[in-house]
Formats: sequence, structure tokens, C-alpha cells
Amino acid sequence: MSLTYDCVVVGGGPAGATAATDLAAAGRKVLLLDRAGRIKPCGGAIPPRLIADFAIPDHLIVGRAHLARMIAPSDNAVDMPVDRGNAGGMVGMVDREEFDEWLRARAASSGAERRTGTFDQIERDADGTAIIVYTDAADGSKQRVRARCVIGADGARSRVARATLEGAERMPCVFAYHEVIRSPAIADAAFDRGRCDVFYQAALSPDFYAWIFPHGDTASVGVGSAQKGFALRDAVGRLRRREGLAACETIRREGAPIPLKPLRKWDNGRDVLVTGDAAGVVAPASGEGIYYAMVAGREAAKAAGAFLVSGNPKALGQARRAFMRAHGRVFWILGIMQHFWYRNDQRRERFVTMCEDRDVQNLIWPAYMNKKLVYARPLAYLRIFLKDMRHLLQTAG
Ligand SMILES: Cc1cc2nc3c(=O)[nH]c(=O)nc-3n(C[C@H](O)[C@H](O)[C@H](O)COP(=O)(O)OP(=O)(O)OC[C@H]3O[C@@H](n4cnc5c(N)ncnc54)[C@H](O)[C@@H]3O)c2cc1C
Repeated sequence: MSLTYDCVVVGGGPAGATAATDLAAAGRKVLLLDRAGRIKPCGGAIPPRLIADFAIPDHLIVGRAHLARMIAPSDNAVDMPVDRGNAGGMVGMVDREEFDEWLRARAASSGAERRTGTFDQIERDADGTAIIVYTDAADGSKQRVRARCVIGADGARSRVARATLEGAERMPCVFAYHEVIRSPAIADAAFDRGRCDVFYQAALSPDFYAWIFPHGDTASVGVGSAQKGFALRDAVGRLRRREGLAACETIRREGAPIPLKPLRKWDNGRDVLVTGDAAGVVAPASGEGIYYAMVAGREAAKAAGAFLVSGNPKALGQARRAFMRAHGRVFWILGIMQHFWYRNDQRRERFVTMCEDRDVQNLIWPAYMNKKLVYARPLAYLRIFLKDMRHLLQTAG
């Protein structure tokens, strides 16, 4: 154990692989530790901004959606063309099995060492240095490595966060379940490989939404809910039957929690920092987490890099500050939206009706695709505000 890594990154999903890539590219000695053999359950929808900012090659984009169909409790369907307010806009689809592995391979080609094993705990050396204890995937042996700093990117319910940060075990989550199915034949009119369907119906999800996301030859049919006891599997079964997808081959059935709120503190004030789902950075209302995990992973690498230079643990705090400065306001708005509009079917009905509005579409799509709230059209926002108020008052009435 004489070797000390500058940083051990626990978890090789989008957050950890990005942090490891950036730190290794900056010349740091990095170990990327990832559990063996699990494909992250995920709808795989990503915005163009992610593809551009993180240089994702075209071959990883297995599908491109140009339309989102929002379906209200009454079955009223509202189509939202993705290029509204943003010519050429699309939602990219990735398969997490290939996408995550490609990101880990990129970390390795940037100079990070990869190991496969499950993180167990952090111990301390006599001089206080962190020792990461993990179980090797190949032979089940316990291994120990020393690190000047640790990045916990081990997803929702992170073991690193629970071991080092107070309150991490109480992070609120939506539980999401999906089935990966073989897409119906191209000639099947009911299923469109260029369209994402989003269902706002209490029967399918009492507090979140259900979805059908096309991934070329496969599709993700899923549902999320924070309500304990809600039968997610039954809901997906009902959705598949209803949409004529029951007979399609089921390739995988899997579920995972989606965090609902960023942790108040991402570091232990000493040498451990968490990021991505481990830090709770998933957008409320949409459940979008891949882009935010990669941005947070990048911020974690910057903060860890600054800590390694100065030795001052305060540098670790800049990861959360930078992330929240850039995205905190959008998370706050989406949190309110989820709280208000996902509460009952009457509100969901109005929410979907609102999505029909051109001004709303012109606001939503560029914000999703470019991850920026653009204030170029104040009159349109005033109109949206007034219409929103009218819907709120009608809902209350
Ligand atoms: C059903 C579902 C659908 C979703 N759909 C979308 C979507 O369409 N678009 C979107 O943007 N987001 C979606 N999300 C959210 C998105 O998947 C996550 O926000 C994103 O994967 C977070 O990335 P991460 O790197 O922080 O964590 P993860 O992707 O969870 O990666 C964590 C990594 O850590 C590893 N790990 C865990 N524990 C240990 C351990 N003890 N030791 C070593 N390694 C460990 C795991 O194997 C994994 O590789 C969805 C989530 C779910 C559950």
C-alpha cells in the first residue's frame, strides 16, 4: 500500500467517469473503481448540450426523438415538436450499457487506472490518510488503497455519502421501474421511433409520470413514484397492454431510485466529496440526471484538483457552489412545478393543456436543450405568467 492515489473515484457512471477523465487529463493519479456487471436502469434521454459539452460521438446516439407527446388523464394528447424555438432540436437517446462503458474507457485513455470491485468503507491510516476498502470483483478479496482525496459517484443511496455525510441516508427519492422491450416493427403506426410519450395519469403514476422512450430497435417503458406500495410493475404492464406493446419481447426488467433533492453538503470538510446522484443532483419534475451528473462530476474534478494543489479542504465546497449557481434556480422552479402540477389528475389535466401553448413550448425546449433560461422574449414570459395564473386560479376554483 505504499502507492497513494491523488484521487480514488468510486462509481463509474456518468458522474464518476467524467470526474476521473478530467482529473486524469489534468495529470492526476486517479483510480476509477466501479462495481461489476450492472447496467444502470435508465430512460437514456439526453439533451444536445450534453452531446456538445462532453464530446459524445454519434455512434452512441441510438435514437433521436423529434416530438414529445404529453398525455393527460382524459387521454387528451398534446404534441410538442422538439424544434419549437430551436431549429433542428432533438432529444438524443443512449443505451446505458454502451454509453457508461464508453465513458469509463475514455477515463482510462485519459490516464485513469480502472479496477472492478465494490466499495465497502473508508478507513484511516496512522497519518490520517484515507484508505478505501473494496471487495475485488474477480476473487472476492478485500483490497485497500490510499488516497489523498475520494470522490463518491456511486449513485443514489451512495455508500460513500452514507459513510461520510450526515443526513445522506434520508435523501428523498422517487422509485423508477422500466422494462426494456424490443421495438415494434417500423410499419407499426401506433409506435413512433421518433417520439417520446409521457403519461400524466394517476392510474399510471400517482405523483410522477410514466413514459415510452424509443431507442431505435429497443424502447424503455417505465414509471416513477415516490409512493410506497404503489405497484410500479403492474402500472408498466397496464401501459404496455394499453399501447399495444404487451407482445413485444421483454429484454430487461429493472428499477432504481431517483434522488429528488441535492444534499446540503457534498463534502466532509476533509477529503471526501460526493457528486452526481450520490449528491442528489437530478432535476425535479423531469427526473433528468445524466447531464447534471456529468456537470457535477466535472465540478467535482475541478474542486478536487484545487484541493490537491492547496491542501485546503474548503476548496471541496466549490463543487456544490458552482453547480447550484448554474442550475439551482432551474431545480427550484422544477421542484415547485412537480409539487403543484403532479398532485392530482385535475391539475395534471391543466398542466398538459398548458403544454399546448406555443409560448410554453418555445420556453421549455430551448431550456431543456441548451440548459439555459433565455430571457430574450420578455413579452412571451409575461403571457406565460398570466396564463399560468389563470390555470392556477381555475384549478383552485
Ligand atoms: C428508471 C430510470 C430512468 C431514468 N431516465 C433518465 C433519462 O431518460 N434521462 C436522464 O437524464 N436521466 C434519467 N434517469 C436518471 C439517471 O439515470 C441518473 O441521474 C444518472 O445515471 C446519474 O449518474 P451517476 O453517475 O451519478 O450515477 P449512476 O449512473 O447510478 O452510476 C453510479 C455508478 O456507481 C457504481 N456503484 C454503485 N455502488 C458502488 C459501490 N459500492 N462500489 C463501486 N461502484 C459502485 C454503479 O455500478 C454505477 O456504475 C433515470 C433513472 C432511472 C432510475
